[in-house]
Amino acid sequence: MSHSAEIRIKSKNILTLNAFIKFMKLISVIGTRPQLIKASVLSTQFSSDKLDHKIIDTGQHYDPELSNIFFEQLFDKDAKFSNLNVDFKKEIDFYSKCLTALEKIFIKDKPDVVICYGDTNTSVIAALVASKMNIKLAHVESGLRDFSDIRPEEKNRIIVDRLSNFLFCPTPNAVKNLDEESKLYPVSKHFFTGDVMRDLFLKMKDKFSKPDIDLPDKFNIVTLHRQENVDNEENLKNIVRSLNDISLEIPMIFPIHPRTKKMLDSNDLNLNCLEIPPQGYLQFQWLLDKATNIITDSGGVQKESFFHSKKCLLIYEGNTGWTELEEKGFFEISKPIYNSIIEAYTGLQFNQKINNKDVDYIFGKGNACEIISNFFRTLEK
Ligand code: UDP
Repeated sequence: MSHSAEIRIKSKNILTLNAFIKFMKLISVIGTRPQLIKASVLSTQFSSDKLDHKIIDTGQHYDPELSNIFFEQLFDKDAKFSNLNVDFKKEIDFYSKCLTALEKIFIKDKPDVVICYGDTNTSVIAALVASKMNIKLAHVESGLRDFSDIRPEEKNRIIVDRLSNFLFCPTPNAVKNLDEESKLYPVSKHFFTGDVMRDLFLKMKDKFSKPDIDLPDKFNIVTLHRQENVDNEENLKNIVRSLNDISLEIPMIFPIHPRTKKMLDSNDLNLNCLEIPPQGYLQFQWLLDKATNIITDSGGVQKESFFHSKKCLLIYEGNTGWTELEEKGFFEISKPIYNSIIEAYTGLQFNQKINNKDVDYIFGKGNACEIISNFFRTLEK
């Protein structure tokens, strides 16, 4: 090979390398089970698109039961993680320690974009640090609103969206909400991507598998963890009483969240359910698929019921922000009041299977991660 040909090959390689290096350096900040689940599917997409991505876990809901299995089931082996390892007792303590710890990591790692997910304290913390350090912020699950002014989740969504540079909307109504807000003040770039949880569901649905436990042929499934339901003694008593009565008819399987277990024990409340540990994603989806009825207070499970073409009973005050589901009556909703739960459950009995033909229109075709990843690939450093 001539000397000049060798130089040309070298410079071509350098150009290719430069093009690669130009991609944005991305850091996702997560702290709860649903955020771990959402980050997993994006992380896989980033890795196949060769984007430089790292995940930082604040430990907001740290519990091995809620996290270990997801690393095994959902993440690529080469996914990069680190934990903040902050020791905290109260919310403000958590905020102050995470703010400082995250700033140190961002100074060291120099991300071009910080990605946050949903409406948790972890997302607000990531948004505040990124914004103070002039790092671009991207919000996955942007634009959801329940139009309450009291709910902590609503406050968090508004703060994060106001600070975000790139707002990825999971539903058409989320886009509409931000369009409306942009009439009042500038809202950064926002567009429909679809829901990353829909992506995960479609990607994994052939792998859903039975948990390794004895189960009755017919069962209902319940999940319960919202602060307003489990930390309020009266609400928790109402819910337990109604679940116990419903269980007389169909056995109830309860993958119990550690927070709920603690509150049931400390209030001396007995549940007449088959309590099982929190399940991995694949096992939990299998249970949703096979359950006769789904009862939940989870925003995520409410959506997944819809993915399974099932109506669920949502124990919730107000709405979850997934307003398309509410508008179309795709769930029965009840406040944590005994009579109202029983009544909503009766409504559910006659209406379990629903037609979810609108699912692609509402949550996308399963390519939300691809859209988001392509967007990052077009950004120049
Ligand atoms: N989930 C799970 N195992 C369980 C219970 C829930 O994998 O035992 C998943 C569920 O499929 C959904 C997510 O956890 O994707 C929902 O999380 P959670 O209910 O904790 O939070 P929310 O969605 O209300 O924010």
